[in-house]
Amino acid sequence: GDVLRLERARRTYRRGEAPVAALDGIDLVVRPGEWVAIVGPSGCGKSTLLNIASGVDRPDPPPTGGRAILCGVDLAAATERELVHLRRTAVGVVFQAFHLVPNLTALENVELPLALAGERGDPGRARELLERVGLGARLNHHPGELSGGEEQRVAVARALVHRPRLVVADEPTGNLDSASGALVLDVLDELRRTEGAALLMATHDDAVAARADRTVRIVDGRIVDGRTSADAEPTH
Ligand code: ADP
Ligand code: ADP
Repeated sequence: GDVLRLERARRTYRRGEAPVAALDGIDLVVRPGEWVAIVGPSGCGKSTLLNIASGVDRPDPPPTGGRAILCGVDLAAATERELVHLRRTAVGVVFQAFHLVPNLTALENVELPLALAGERGDPGRARELLERVGLGARLNHHPGELSGGEEQRVAVARALVHRPRLVVADEPTGNLDSASGALVLDVLDELRRTEGAALLMATHDDAVAARADRTVRIVDGRIVDGRTSADAEPTH
């Protein structure tokens, strides 16, 4: 089935008296293995969308929130416990600021999601992924001993180690120079292809978005441009 399906999804923040619709009726379908880029100005709702896509947040409650189905789970109906399980097994996340654990080695950082997902076996998995992102010689380095580009490649390996169906990436190259950023995109693309994961990525950078299978543009919480699913007609 679909990795993510949003139907008229709405997410409202209360700010004093005036509610703000950070997402104002979003229709979006992400299919297995697809790379979808989300672009739009600061404050348009990208982070809110990614938070729902990673099971960290939910749309407004029924009847106004629409529907959000993540890997078959209806977020409105799921218990907090079910959401925790979904986040740990079905989703991998890459942040702009890397967010590695500083006192763990690169290898230990990549192994962390396996422990959280309760996975046994496959002891070589984390090491293999670090080798595939070009860090086979950095397994026992701590994040402080790595360059930014290296840290983000560790984060990419960490995001895929537990075989998630969806990788959510929020400006993954935003803190990197263009050469390091291009390398991070290369390894992210290579891993999501070979692992068969879908990738939902927010970016300000049109050159980054151009590498995706399709791009969805959001303004003021609404999709203004782009196909809402792989087989829909373009809206422009
Ligand atoms: P983007 O990631 O595209 O910059 P966000 O999803 O962070 O956009 O924000 C969308 C809108 O929701 C903005 O108007 C923002 O100010 C508002 N918003 C985001 N998070 C909160 C929050 N926790 N409380 C109140 N308003 C918020
Ligand atoms: P990348 O292109 O992956 O960011 P660089 O070419 O910038 O890598 O860095 C190459 C090497 O220099 C790294 O292996 C790392 O050991 C070292 N290095 C670079 N930047 C830093 C830094 N900020 N702190 C510590 N070491 C660094």
